[in-house]
Amino acid sequence: MAAQISTGTSELRDITRMERIGAHSHIRGLGLDDRLEPRANSQGMVGQAKARKAAGLILKMVQEGRIAGRAILMAGPPSTGKTAIAMGMAQTLGSDVPFTMIAASEVFSLSLSKTEALTQAFRRSIGVRIKEETEIIEGEVVELQIDQSLTGATKTGKLTIKTTDMETVYDLGHKMIDALRKEKVIAGDVIIVDKASGKVTKLGRSFARSRDYDAMGADTKFVQCPDGEIQKRKEVVHTVSLHEIDVINSRTQGFSLCSLAELRDQINSKVGEWKEEGKAEIIPGVLFIDEVHMLDIECFSFLNRALEDELAPIVIMASNRGMARIRDRVLIISTRPYEPEDIEQIIKIRCQEEDVNLTEGSLAVLTSMASQTTLRYALNLISCADIVAKKRKADAVDVDDLRRSVQWLKEQQGTMIFDEEAPPQDVQM
Ligand code: ATP
Repeated sequence: MAAQISTGTSELRDITRMERIGAHSHIRGLGLDDRLEPRANSQGMVGQAKARKAAGLILKMVQEGRIAGRAILMAGPPSTGKTAIAMGMAQTLGSDVPFTMIAASEVFSLSLSKTEALTQAFRRSIGVRIKEETEIIEGEVVELQIDQSLTGATKTGKLTIKTTDMETVYDLGHKMIDALRKEKVIAGDVIIVDKASGKVTKLGRSFARSRDYDAMGADTKFVQCPDGEIQKRKEVVHTVSLHEIDVINSRTQGFSLCSLAELRDQINSKVGEWKEEGKAEIIPGVLFIDEVHMLDIECFSFLNRALEDELAPIVIMASNRGMARIRDRVLIISTRPYEPEDIEQIIKIRCQEEDVNLTEGSLAVLTSMASQTTLRYALNLISCADIVAKKRKADAVDVDDLRRSVQWLKEQQGTMIFDEEAPPQDVQM
């Protein structure tokens, strides 16, 4: 790989992220048992049994390599859990498996081409799990290096430390990182080379990122060893997305050697090498594309091609429009409107998640409002009504708080960017 990689003028920009992940913070998986049967209320999931089971079966087939192409279409009315199920699928694959959510309308941004926006979304959804087994040496440390390992480039500092005092080493390490940051190099690992023994110690990427090494977490604590002896630390695993690696490298200033496409090719082959060497694992995540009916033929042909790639994530497209024609290679999961009991359970789960108490009466009213409008609208009312309740120093939200919240939202109609959450005129309470 080139010593320094820069994208030159075509600086990589993030696609706008209008994620509403917070609304799904209670979802921890698909809530299935070992036989992939949906549990009534598990991992934050309630109801929608058929769709959850279908999602679980598809995941199993993907994991066993039994389906080629990984495109799924979720079809169903608004607020019936399409996003929640997609997120549950990613969580079932593993806690560090990337989940990316975009709305098709975001693809048509003025600042990025459609294919660039989709490429970024794909690369956000592919994780690289980097394994590091680090050794700690105490001895005469004579040289510090900053290895910008994501590009393969190594910047060697001119610093010589003659000390066995790790504090001094950390201190100087930070100073070097600061110096490199000034050159807009995002530091990778700090490496301590013990010249006498030739042993190399990596302090890890988290060290480079964190100014305070105490804040790095229990598994990255440094161990002091007796003279010259090497102690193996437990394996440290970081997961970054291909997009994050792109961003890190595209920010690297220097001579403009290659285009974004070339940079990505180089990153892919570097990651491939890491995989061959057993240093990294590539983990396809889940890309959720909402409002998929808004995509045009160019986007679909891009998706078709991108799905052929062996690195492709699972792509879940969602739509609440009836679709006229469905192309091959797409598995379909449909979601249905919820029964009132399921809605009531989901409201209770959200209240627990947000630490809000509802009176019996307001739970019933909110449940019936969700049936009349959408579940999302009702769930969004919870936090609004809680503020109203707190203002009057009550510890539970009552029907009047809900009424005032609805009224407030009505008054705000039109002043908000997203009108979709505005209540319909005929909400009955
Ligand atoms: P849209 O078509 O409008 O994008 P959607 O079908 O993607 O909607 P979600 O956004 O997933 O619906 O659901 C609305 C809210 O209800 C979210 O907060 C979601 O987490 C929650 N929710 C939906 N289904 C379930 C479920 N089965 N169990 C628990 N929570 C759910």
